[in-house]
Amino acid sequence: MCRSVDELYREAVSLTQDLVRIPSVTGSEDEISRFLADWLEERGVEALRDEVGNVISVSGDGPLHLLYNGHMDTVPPQPGWTRDPFEPAVEGDRLYGLGSSDMKGGLAAMAVVYSELAKCTDFPLIYTAVVREEGGDDTPENMRGALHLARTFLRGKRAVGIVGEGSVDRDGRLVIRIGHNGKLRLRIRVRGVAGHGSRPDYAVNAIYLAMDIVRALKASYDYANPIRIPRVTLDSEIRPPLSVNVFRAGEAINQIPSEAELLVDRRVVHGEDIDELRRRYSDLVEHVIGALREELAPRLEELERGIGVEVDEIGMNRPAYMLPETEDAKILLAAAKRAVESLEGRVDLSYGTGYTDAEILWSFAGVPSVIIGPGARAHVQDEFLDLGPLKKVVRVYWDVPRLMFPR
Ligand SMILES: [Zn+2]
Repeated sequence: MCRSVDELYREAVSLTQDLVRIPSVTGSEDEISRFLADWLEERGVEALRDEVGNVISVSGDGPLHLLYNGHMDTVPPQPGWTRDPFEPAVEGDRLYGLGSSDMKGGLAAMAVVYSELAKCTDFPLIYTAVVREEGGDDTPENMRGALHLARTFLRGKRAVGIVGEGSVDRDGRLVIRIGHNGKLRLRIRVRGVAGHGSRPDYAVNAIYLAMDIVRALKASYDYANPIRIPRVTLDSEIRPPLSVNVFRAGEAINQIPSEAELLVDRRVVHGEDIDELRRRYSDLVEHVIGALREELAPRLEELERGIGVEVDEIGMNRPAYMLPETEDAKILLAAAKRAVESLEGRVDLSYGTGYTDAEILWSFAGVPSVIIGPGARAHVQDEFLDLGPLKKVVRVYWDVPRLMFPR
């Protein structure tokens, strides 16, 4: 006999609070990973931890597994929290705490539903809780837990997945995210000619050079056409996001700086070719610097110096994700749509602006996923989780395998 969904929901609320109590900022997931593995074992479900700290559990057997996947890490608490980020509090319909929304609520709901189904059914299921989703280091592979999982445990497995990142609309309605942006993070270093603060004509101020690049980047965003996203029923047009988020230059009040650095966050929209974007931005900055070089030619000649620019990439840059139209993906989507529709009376498919591990699971392990989760607020002060959507996802996580694996 399986327990009722109401009971599972209450357990998910309490497990979410346990998880919030364990700090797990990216790179420090050891304690929460041990806790989750023990939690599963205590419920009589076998769980293991891999080399990087991902928690993995498998139950049942069949040609096609349903994977529940979530991440255990959180961003660091932002300054300005008015409460203890690691002390969960339920007030009314809200559960406060760091990571409650992104995504310990979803992670807990998945653990509760998975462990119950593992005991009371023989559905072929996998549960994975991964490390380092919120960006680890600046290496191209970012030490991402999901990437490790895709290359080891999930390799060659036939599975479809649910990634438990938030998929709640403004009215608290659950939707299904079938795709999301990729990302391209650039570091642009501009080189001018240093000089004394009192002699601007005998220097080339790197801040001014960099400002021209910033302006060109901003214009490329301001005048970009929105891209239409296929298959989705909500917000189906996206202007490719680009933002210059860090500008570093200068050290002393009396010295004209010779170097400036910009960090640019460009999201890759479905249908865009990430390699073409790499070329586009490197051409754009070269073009700006080329024009400046011409304009400044007499001065550069006199100074016997040159100006320059370098563009390189930060972190793991990846294309956009879209649920593929394979047979397995269709089985998953049909079940997810029925589950959400029976709860909400309708179902919308959406496309997210942020990046998730769904792209990794598909590109590196061939596991197509939909994104369904209770969170609505990520990376904010006084983060909280609405309990209404948590209750709904417990139901959906519970229903999807029942619809996928009719017995
Ligand atoms: Zn997240």
